[in-house]
Amino acid sequence: MQQHETVIVLDFGGQYNQLIARRVRENNVYCEIYSYKTDPAVIRAKNPKGIIFTGGPNSVYLEDSPSCDPEIFTWGVPILGICYGSQLMMHLLGGKVTRAPEREYGKTEVFVDTSSKLFEGVSPSTICWMSHNDYIEQAAPGFKITAHTANCPVAAMEDTNRGLYAVQFHPEVLHTAEGKKMLHNFVYNVCGCAGDWKMDSFVESNVKALREQIGDGKVLCALSGGVDSSVLAAMLAKAVGKQLTCVFVDHGLLRKNEKEEVCAVFGPGNPNFDINFICVDARARYFSKLAGVTEPERKRKIIGEEFIRVFEEEAKKIGHVDFLAQGTIYPDVVESGLGGESTVIKSHHNVGGLPDHVDFKALVEPLRNLFKDEVRQAGRELGLPEYIVSRQPFPGPGLAIRIIGEVTPEKVAIVQDADAIWREEIAKAGLAGEISQYYAALTNMHSVGVMGDERTYDYAVALRAVTTTDFMTAESYNVPWDVLGTVTSRIVNEVKHVNRVFYDCTGKPPATIEME
Ligand code: GLN
Repeated sequence: MQQHETVIVLDFGGQYNQLIARRVRENNVYCEIYSYKTDPAVIRAKNPKGIIFTGGPNSVYLEDSPSCDPEIFTWGVPILGICYGSQLMMHLLGGKVTRAPEREYGKTEVFVDTSSKLFEGVSPSTICWMSHNDYIEQAAPGFKITAHTANCPVAAMEDTNRGLYAVQFHPEVLHTAEGKKMLHNFVYNVCGCAGDWKMDSFVESNVKALREQIGDGKVLCALSGGVDSSVLAAMLAKAVGKQLTCVFVDHGLLRKNEKEEVCAVFGPGNPNFDINFICVDARARYFSKLAGVTEPERKRKIIGEEFIRVFEEEAKKIGHVDFLAQGTIYPDVVESGLGGESTVIKSHHNVGGLPDHVDFKALVEPLRNLFKDEVRQAGRELGLPEYIVSRQPFPGPGLAIRIIGEVTPEKVAIVQDADAIWREEIAKAGLAGEISQYYAALTNMHSVGVMGDERTYDYAVALRAVTTTDFMTAESYNVPWDVLGTVTSRIVNEVKHVNRVFYDCTGKPPATIEME
């Protein structure tokens, strides 16, 4: 792959490490995250245009706190320290960091020196996000103070001769009103980047790289219809066409029309992608495996295992393949502990893990360096329709975990219809872009109602809509009452066996985003 200008985020355990990298990339500059423990030679070999030190939970003046070799300050590579990163820079270069008399947390007014390259175009008084207990009592020799707050005498500092910049606040979070501008200023004004990271060139160079890697080999790809696997399939299709076989498993737990949508894009007769496409109708075997099962973990397990089994059977029919494609994306890489410093949050696998018995030579993971929004952008470049690239996250076990209790074809049909109405009305109300995830679920509850003067005893549907930035925590979205009213009356009128609709007001924690 062609070498891009690169900015490195050196991770000291901050919560926002991925956010920093995303913000840099939004400025068309490629950015990668490395743990502070990484051998400096590795970082240097990347030939970075700039380095950003992240925040972190520790205190620099304590023994055993994360640190780095001060050599890094002599490389002539511009460095921006953020929060812990700024404190570390001061600590290592002869400044003084101590416990602050009062911690500073939340949106804070910061007075900045707009003659600094970092603050070009920023208002002299600007709102920034603070989150610290320690403070810089004294900047290191050679540094000029370029910002302060009411409580914090050194909120930003710089030594322009050495290209070293530091800010106590967090420019990467949206609560810092002009943070985007500051990061833009850092990568362009300070690091001198030209901005060569663009999705169209990424797609083009990656397609070329895939062709070289794959040669005339055969590739197998499990297509779920989600964003990542669809973009993966599209990219491979573009690169190697008929050498690619996509297996799509219809387990009967998909959203309404989802199978048709996937088949229209990738299936036989589609206008865009000339590949081998296999759609396995596994509905009956899934439903028989799930009959009588009510325990959520058990349901998930059965579905995951069955997926592998179906996939293996199909793979066996195809025979030997050279490559297995995986839709791993950059957050998966970072979260499985390979990229940054954040502890292992989850070990990543697509739909229940890698099949054991598929005979292949190597993995291809062309999306490994992309954030989710970049994956979507790449999908658009590849000509995928908007209803695929802007799809919400959908769990591997599908609607099975949105049906409390036993899963049956009848219950799936109810959820599919209710969910389709909910999605349609959210889109109509113009709310789709504001809500991170929304769906309808089937509670396992029957209750009494009255319809057409007749007593009914039917199901209750639950509606859910949440906003979140990272899916680790979430808040219930405040859907306007009239939208809820419209959806409720449409669901009870149009979906048979539903006589009641609930709205889920719970956040995560204490609830989860999905029901099971
Ligand atoms: N732990 C340091 C402090 O309390 C840095 C905090 C941070 O990076 N957010 O000041």
